[in-house]
Amino acid sequence: MSNTQALIGLVAQHSSDQPDRYFLNAAYVNAIHNAGGIPIIIPYQPLEGIRTVLHQVRGVVLTGGVDVDPQRYGEAPHRACGEINPLRDELDLAVTELALERNLPILAICRGAQVLNVALGGTLVQDIPEQIPGAIKHRQEAPKWYGTHSVSIQPGSLLSSIVGSDAQVNSYHHQAIAKVGTGLRVSAEAPDGVVEAVESTSGSFVLGVQWHPELMEERCPAARALFRHFVQAVLAN
Ligand code: MN
Repeated sequence: MSNTQALIGLVAQHSSDQPDRYFLNAAYVNAIHNAGGIPIIIPYQPLEGIRTVLHQVRGVVLTGGVDVDPQRYGEAPHRACGEINPLRDELDLAVTELALERNLPILAICRGAQVLNVALGGTLVQDIPEQIPGAIKHRQEAPKWYGTHSVSIQPGSLLSSIVGSDAQVNSYHHQAIAKVGTGLRVSAEAPDGVVEAVESTSGSFVLGVQWHPELMEERCPAARALFRHFVQAVLAN
């Protein structure tokens, strides 16, 4: 494959309504395309197929969606845990593990950041309002492109090299990273201390953000920069 072709796999979302559907919000596809990558959607399928796809793509986007089954990180479901989807967990965790094994750049968004953390042995806050007293509102009711809260970004992190020392971000989550997975470190926090980004300690481009930059990229240069730097990392890898 030529160096100028960045085939990037995006995990499909899954609705378990009948008939069930694999799908993906177009904003993810558009953001990768706008950043110079070639997006390809990866639906749930047996592991052999996922393995074959992961040999073709050069980077992976872990996308948003429902909650991760708490049993995946050794917990029973809290009463405020939301919808879970075992097929989605199986797909996402397989893609994450294979991408890490192959040292592919990973951009993990919202649920994706939580999946990345769980794949590396971390745990999640199952419901921020129930489990973090004094937390700010992380379930935004405002236009999707609008940043409703700030995040402070760790100096010296990969994330700070892309977006600087702070950012305004949108917020569509009720869960968050609790215990940080092995090989990850926190790279951004909300004003209430909720983890808003994690990244690899190894220096490779493995970055998870709790917000949705794909919904902001048309209006927000920092959100665009995340995708641009990700695609650049894919091309350089
Ligand atoms: Mn938030």
